[in-house]
Amino acid sequence: MKTNGKKPDLARIKKAVSFPDLMTRYGFQLKAQGGGSFRGKCPLPTHTRETDDNSFTAALKESGWVWDCFSNSCIANRGGKKGGNMLDFVMAMEKDSSLFRIGTKLNDWFGLNAWLINGQGATTAESKPQARSAATESQPRPAEKPVDTAAASETEPGENKPLGFRLQHIDFKHPYLAQRGITPETAEYFGVGYFPGNSKLLKGRIVFPIWNARGEGNPVAYAGRSIDGSEPKYVFPPGFKKSLELWNLHRIPEAADHVIVLEGLFSVMRFHQAGIRNVVSLMGSSASEEQIRVLAAFSCVTLCLDPDEAGRAATAALLQPIARLTHVRALELPGQADELEPETIRKLLAI
Ligand SMILES: [Zn+2]
Repeated sequence: MKTNGKKPDLARIKKAVSFPDLMTRYGFQLKAQGGGSFRGKCPLPTHTRETDDNSFTAALKESGWVWDCFSNSCIANRGGKKGGNMLDFVMAMEKDSSLFRIGTKLNDWFGLNAWLINGQGATTAESKPQARSAATESQPRPAEKPVDTAAASETEPGENKPLGFRLQHIDFKHPYLAQRGITPETAEYFGVGYFPGNSKLLKGRIVFPIWNARGEGNPVAYAGRSIDGSEPKYVFPPGFKKSLELWNLHRIPEAADHVIVLEGLFSVMRFHQAGIRNVVSLMGSSASEEQIRVLAAFSCVTLCLDPDEAGRAATAALLQPIARLTHVRALELPGQADELEPETIRKLLAI
């Protein structure tokens, strides 16, 4: 996903493009049926029966344009799906499953210039995810939530700029990492380890470098986790805008169309050790509008939030806003994500 921070603003595109205009581009015409609904011949490459003449309908809903074709053979050729949104339609027409490329094409064709640059766009998502609720006291171990106070779900304005320094002398072999099931190789790969240095904020903590989506140069911040039970468990530097970043996003290959979303930082490393690379952390159990927009640039989003009250509330709050923009599913984990064995993780994701 190295896109120089520039991504098509899919939410805006879905509303800005008129479906009848899009059909004209493909040499087909839809007839207005009244009530914002249109009907005509199906242009999809999956449509093989000429006799189903007026089988294709499109209508403008609150979330943008939706379409369907009721021809049984056309549905079967699309794997049983009756229809979808505008992006699904262009994906089927172009035989391309990358939302990034589809969004770029639509921008180009209709001169929209609807981009999110460094996460900044003119569009706002329709609903706000709920802040996390308090975890129950009956849990054996409180789930690893990097932010223990109420997590902000508002997107903070501005951007996170790369730091002018990098922390030195990070110990990737610290016993605390082994205790959490993280190998020295994994720790070094992520740059995560014990920091003995003289930063007031981070000294004596496990530090996590956080890069922005570009992943260039130095990290934009370090998160620090206490290892002696002291609170707060996680600290972030003042001025760091957590709502703008997803941890590990910059390492996901540009070609990846699927992203797995976890709450915690340790969870990402556990999934990595199980061979799962397209995984990001919300750095908490809520997502900002900006984080949702970034996730929606993938064709498919899998939520693997922790099976506790906060994780379930976050899943419930996230499904709908993400589903408006792209395909999303939620998996119920058999335990806290940062405690799952590699075999369990692979089985869960059917890999
Ligand atoms: Zn059809």
